[in-house]
Amino acid sequence: MNHEVLVLGGGYAGLPAAKRLARRVRADEVSVTLVTAFPEFVERPRLHQLATGQPVEIVPVVDYLAGSAVQLVIGSVTAIDLDTRTVIVSRDGDEHAMRYDTLIYALGSNIDTAHVPGVAEHAHSLVGTDAAARARVRLRALAEDAGRVAVCGGGLTGIEIAAEVAESFPTLDVTLVSGSAPGGWLSDRAQAYLARAFDRLGVTVQPGRRVREVRPGELVLDRGHLANDLCLWAGGFRVPTLARDSGLAVNGDDRALVDRTLQSVSHPGVYVIGDAAAVAGAWGPQLAMGCRSGGFTGPKVADVVAARLTGREPAPFRFRYLHECISLGRRHGLVQFLNADESPKRRILTGRAAIAYKNVTLGGAKLLFRHSGPFLARRRSLSPAGRPARRPA
Ligand SMILES: Cc1cc2nc3c(=O)[nH]c(=O)nc-3n(C[C@H](O)[C@H](O)[C@H](O)COP(=O)(O)OP(=O)(O)OC[C@H]3O[C@@H](n4cnc5c(N)ncnc54)[C@H](O)[C@@H]3O)c2cc1C
Repeated sequence: MNHEVLVLGGGYAGLPAAKRLARRVRADEVSVTLVTAFPEFVERPRLHQLATGQPVEIVPVVDYLAGSAVQLVIGSVTAIDLDTRTVIVSRDGDEHAMRYDTLIYALGSNIDTAHVPGVAEHAHSLVGTDAAARARVRLRALAEDAGRVAVCGGGLTGIEIAAEVAESFPTLDVTLVSGSAPGGWLSDRAQAYLARAFDRLGVTVQPGRRVREVRPGELVLDRGHLANDLCLWAGGFRVPTLARDSGLAVNGDDRALVDRTLQSVSHPGVYVIGDAAAVAGAWGPQLAMGCRSGGFTGPKVADVVAARLTGREPAPFRFRYLHECISLGRRHGLVQFLNADESPKRRILTGRAAIAYKNVTLGGAKLLFRHSGPFLARRRSLSPAGRPARRPA
């Protein structure tokens, strides 16, 4: 009987976790299965490029898994029973129960469309490739009539979408609406550069205006209204409630609480990584959501699980912030270098060098998906503790 590891979610965290773990254990002793909703890898940092009609490489998850022993199941996880160690997966309209000995939960986050009334009904959000395609159709049609686009949210996603739309569709009138100053956490130099970039692109920035409701053709703000022909919503990320609903210990934002080995504080044998996890450390009570949290916790959890299954004590998770890469269309970007605690350094990189830097970073992540490390330690055998417990019939 093999030790069954289920990895839920094939994004920036789950994909490298599954692939690396399969490299670290023996396939005749440990089965690694990746369950994920879509057959294609969704490169979320490029969704705004898809929405503006640019060619974006779409890679099937199965291609990234080529040559590995990871089994792939395309389906949607609808429930987790932590007592019986069973996950319910919906596939082609049927529900399937999948048992596990070790669970790696990596279901990520998405743009929060539920918090503000009217967003789900009347706004477009780049929550996936289909949503990006729908936004593209609307943007193209509006560009012919010099329409008005309101982008809501002054975080990285809103900044990037506003810049991308303004650059790709210069006839559009783009307004970025935000409760606080867009990029207000960046260094003064970076904020000054951002303001110049928006000015050059013709994006009107309206900071200090909180959106209370999205209605057809208008935003209701805390002071006044803003008429628009299309609302693009980027008002923050939220994780699915599945972790909380399953009984895993979570924080106030529903991110699962984990220890320094990324194991759930409430359920041994369950590991949570990427945006779904609240990983506490010198950097604070949780890592900022982003590809890097997945890129670091994914490979790390593979090493932790492999160590535990083969009778070794894993080293704790280590991390330090390095940079924030922001695209401002395809010709300009902004890289803000960070201190270990995420506060901004004075140092920034701008212009074409910055967009090239971001492209290299995103390309590097995909390279790592293909090659999970040529110098990984040899596969070890399971220790007695790693052998699967007899399961209830
Ligand atoms: C428009 C946009 C732009 C972004 N730009 C940047 C950027 O420039 N830089 C940056 O660092 N971050 C960016 N992010 C955030 C970044 O994409 C995420 O933080 C990162 O993807 C988190 O990795 P993850 O593995 O935790 O989650 P994800 O990469 O989202 O992976 C989660 C996976 O789980 C799957 N899944 C979810 N629910 C289920 C279910 N019930 N059943 C089965 N499968 C499921 C999803 O389909 C997905 O494959 C952006 C996000 C968006 C939306």
